[in-house]
Amino acid sequence: MQASFEALQLSPALTAVVHDLGYTQPTPIQIEAIPALLAGRNIIGQSQTGSGKTAAFALPILQGIEVDRRQLQALVICPTRELTAQVGREMRKLGRDHSGLQVLELVGGQPSRPQRDTLERGAHVAIGTPGRLLDHLERGFMKPDSIKTVVLDEADRMLDMGFGDDVRKIIRYLPQNRQTALFSATFPSTIEAMSKEIQQEALRITIETADEDLADIRQLKLCFGTDDKLLTLCWALQSHPHGSALVFCNQKSTVREITKAMSRGAISVDRFDGDLDQFDRDQVLARFRNHSVRILIATDVAGRGLDVEGLDLVINFDLPEQPEVYVHRIGRTGRAGANGVAISMIQNETDRHIEAIEEFTGQPIEILDHSASKSLKLDHLLKQLAEGPKMETILISGGRKDKVRKGDILGALTGEAGGLSGKDIGKIEIQDKLSYVAVSQRVISDAVSCLNAGRIKGKRFRATHVGR
Ligand code: ADP
Ligand code: MG
Repeated sequence: MQASFEALQLSPALTAVVHDLGYTQPTPIQIEAIPALLAGRNIIGQSQTGSGKTAAFALPILQGIEVDRRQLQALVICPTRELTAQVGREMRKLGRDHSGLQVLELVGGQPSRPQRDTLERGAHVAIGTPGRLLDHLERGFMKPDSIKTVVLDEADRMLDMGFGDDVRKIIRYLPQNRQTALFSATFPSTIEAMSKEIQQEALRITIETADEDLADIRQLKLCFGTDDKLLTLCWALQSHPHGSALVFCNQKSTVREITKAMSRGAISVDRFDGDLDQFDRDQVLARFRNHSVRILIATDVAGRGLDVEGLDLVINFDLPEQPEVYVHRIGRTGRAGANGVAISMIQNETDRHIEAIEEFTGQPIEILDHSASKSLKLDHLLKQLAEGPKMETILISGGRKDKVRKGDILGALTGEAGGLSGKDIGKIEIQDKLSYVAVSQRVISDAVSCLNAGRIKGKRFRATHVGR
């Protein structure tokens, strides 16, 4: 089912306006926030920039405005003049069928007098920056008693800009039984503290944004039925040539089992799950990024913030419970216009999780025919998967803080002292206090000894071969 404005309890008049404006569907934050605000709740609405937060509060405000009462009924506090103007524009646009509606912008850097006159004539909605709003309140030009709703827009920015105290003072002028809504792109602890101060029983709405674009990803589902699941996984890996592949499982125990079973071959595989300590996590990810590990078996702890060049295959050994997680997982592939493949293993075609995912993304997932796997043996597949050149990783005990740069490491390995060929050196990653360099498997011990024997930037560092 597709979301519609009709389902949000907006008046027919407002629903008609949004359709006229070409808003065919409400955005996720609008779907959650509009009914809550219409029901009178206090909310914290968090979603990324550009996700339609303005209409999420402007529509409920407009619905509650009694135009015949020439009194101030809603107040929107914005961090800057530009944002005030933007919110004003959107509010007027959405309120164009409320004839007689007065929306007033109250910002600093402009004469106060005309603002005061308009306030006296009676505006319904005031939008403004904290300093000027407070000024009008303190001088008694703005009458806050009939305000029903107050919105802090871009609350995180407002606090960053040091407007916290002004905002608190403004709030103290407002009626106790008001509705308070806080909108923000992020949710730092300062926002949480502010919410506790000015809101009661606030409903927190967080929209996890699937910022990943799935357009370049070929999505497949593989029904393994009664076939051996591990063998089917290996077949899927083998029949989809990849630079790097990420295999997601829901449980740590599954991650361990698969990694162990696949490690029997000479496959470049490792695991990543919540049981690893921070150091090991960093190391595994560095090895995955530099292609010393070609297949990473992981739980969702690896899903976030993992940006691996050449990651072109993601396999869901288990499907996640939530469709959002699916999008996060497969969004790791097909970065920067490269094509990726995402394969989801399901026991049968009517799996309710896959149906929920298709509904969520609005994209059908093709069936992957795996009849070719049926005659194959696991050992044979493991052997095939182990073919091809291999890289290994060396950890060097110096990094950016020691002024170590990529060129220094490359020089140490390929220069007169090192004597290795450049084509045996892979990715070099410099971190604050350590560095990783990938080298071909066949030169690994030479590379380690030469790094330990030589100097980088005139200093000695320890080099160790890291891996399973
Ligand atoms: P945010 O405050 O979350 O950064 P905005 O409220 O500024 O986002 O909205 C971004 C843009 O999206 C605006 O141009 C707005 O007019 C438009 N917009 C808002 N809601 C919808 C919708 N349901 N459908 C299409 N466009 C929308
Ligand atoms: Mg906004």
